[in-house]
Amino acid sequence: MVERLLPKQDIVGSSPITRSPLPRENVEAKILDIFVGEFARLLSCHPPKVVCKIQAGGTPLMSEPGKSLILYVEDNPENRMLVRRVLLAEQYSLIEASSAQETFEILKTNRPNLILMDINMPDMDGYTLTAQIKAMNGFDKVPILAITANVMRGDREKTIQAGCDGYIQKPIDIDQLVREVEKFLARRAHA
Ligand SMILES: [Mg+2]
Repeated sequence: MVERLLPKQDIVGSSPITRSPLPRENVEAKILDIFVGEFARLLSCHPPKVVCKIQAGGTPLMSEPGKSLILYVEDNPENRMLVRRVLLAEQYSLIEASSAQETFEILKTNRPNLILMDINMPDMDGYTLTAQIKAMNGFDKVPILAITANVMRGDREKTIQAGCDGYIQKPIDIDQLVREVEKFLARRAHA
């Protein structure tokens, strides 16, 4: 039926282009490129009113008075870029860490208002890192939101057991990210 309705070259698998499909990771990278590019285009049409400070790495960053400082712990640069763009548009101050070691360095001189925590990282998993941060003097009340692609049964419970206050699933839904960040920062402000 489909073959009768579609021109020959449009049938999946019959075109020379579709005969050798791209490896899955190339397709995913391409989709991500398009998505990030489109997002950047939208941002350029609606630039944030305030330029926020970004710092990747262990150098101290002071949040502007009245602005919430968010620490994003994530080893994947593409995810960092996406979340950075979203949080910039929302006018938050941001500091980034790509490893547990970098996180501890940053926390020596910074007290973020909220931490976004990737669970899968090379030097220490996000569960362990969350538990260690929560045990540090003065950090037990800092909300930590896990950001993870682990969607197996029990994963959400594991993040809560580790001390995470919330959970955001990958692939990241931008609206959900903004809502969750706002919600936890508001809770903290009224605590
Ligand atoms: Mg990761």
